[in-house]
Amino acid sequence: MRHCLLQRAPSVPRTARRRLHLAPPFLLDNYTPRYLGLSSRDAAKKRSLAYAHLRNCNLCPRQCGVNRHETTGMCLIGDTAKVNVIAPHFGEEPCIQGHNGSGAVFMSGCNMRCIFCQNYDIAHQRNGMDLTPEALAEWYLKLQDVGNVHNINIVTPEHVVPQVALSILHAAELGLRLPIVYNTSSYDSLASLELMDGLVDIYLADFKLWEPSTSKRLLKADDYPQTARESIKAMHKQVGDLCFTGDGIAKVGLLVRHLVMPGREAEGAEIMRFLASEYHPDAHVGKKKRRTKASGAVEGAKGQTEPDEGDPDVRYSDINRAVTNEEVSVVRKAAMEAGLWRFCDPPKHGGFVI
Ligand code: SF4
Repeated sequence: MRHCLLQRAPSVPRTARRRLHLAPPFLLDNYTPRYLGLSSRDAAKKRSLAYAHLRNCNLCPRQCGVNRHETTGMCLIGDTAKVNVIAPHFGEEPCIQGHNGSGAVFMSGCNMRCIFCQNYDIAHQRNGMDLTPEALAEWYLKLQDVGNVHNINIVTPEHVVPQVALSILHAAELGLRLPIVYNTSSYDSLASLELMDGLVDIYLADFKLWEPSTSKRLLKADDYPQTARESIKAMHKQVGDLCFTGDGIAKVGLLVRHLVMPGREAEGAEIMRFLASEYHPDAHVGKKKRRTKASGAVEGAKGQTEPDEGDPDVRYSDINRAVTNEEVSVVRKAAMEAGLWRFCDPPKHGGFVI
């Protein structure tokens, strides 16, 4: 067979067999962070907008309307950002963490109350140190110059958007040259995303749940699905599809993550985004239920009655387990049928994938 093909080849003009190999549209030659393209006038506008938001905070869908110089709203964080950990981080997608790590800045506090939170001690208990935007900016420079990380990754920034905006503007003046990753639950307001427009390069956005009733129970926010849909659309409008340089490191665009939840694969199938490969519930999940003095009946938080599924003595027992392969498969199959194809699979050799 091979011999026949070789015999036929001379009759085909060489030029007719040549093919054009165009680089895929998501491959970049090089990249300059968006904040370096801001004019000084735009930077000044962002600064004054950031201070205005702090004086009357409606930065997220909680719409507290408080003056954060004087008091706190639902997120329990005032005008100074509280930070738990600043370090090169290797727990992100390969295209974000690369070989040197992502420069993670874990913000304490949160505007959500996910009952399975994996950073419960940081997000709910607000452990951390207070840092001004100027101090934050200096840490970004340390991550860049000493840590040699690939990006600055602000984890859970939704409730400290003004402080983060001010820190990025200051860091740009100090010499920051790395892309900014906005690592969010997607429980953002359009106003805060507008403030971040021009400052963020990569939106690393969760899309957790689809149903308002499930969101109410597990996230304590029944408007989450609608908010996430609007936020993710706004993020995509700002930065477009995820783009990489030739080394496999993401530089700009939107990357949506979906944590497949036990028994909630139908919601995952609706959401159709990236799949998570690991899940371990924390925070309130799996803890023993309290018993009321009067009736002896078991209760959830603040006296709420929880659905009687699974172990009756354990809180949220229906999601107190790892997801099964079948649950992941349902969501992945639905993603493929919906036309999605750039999946982030864990490397079989345990290393970095390009
Ligand atoms: S960021 Fe905090 S204070 Fe502002 S609206 Fe959201 S929860 Fe309320």
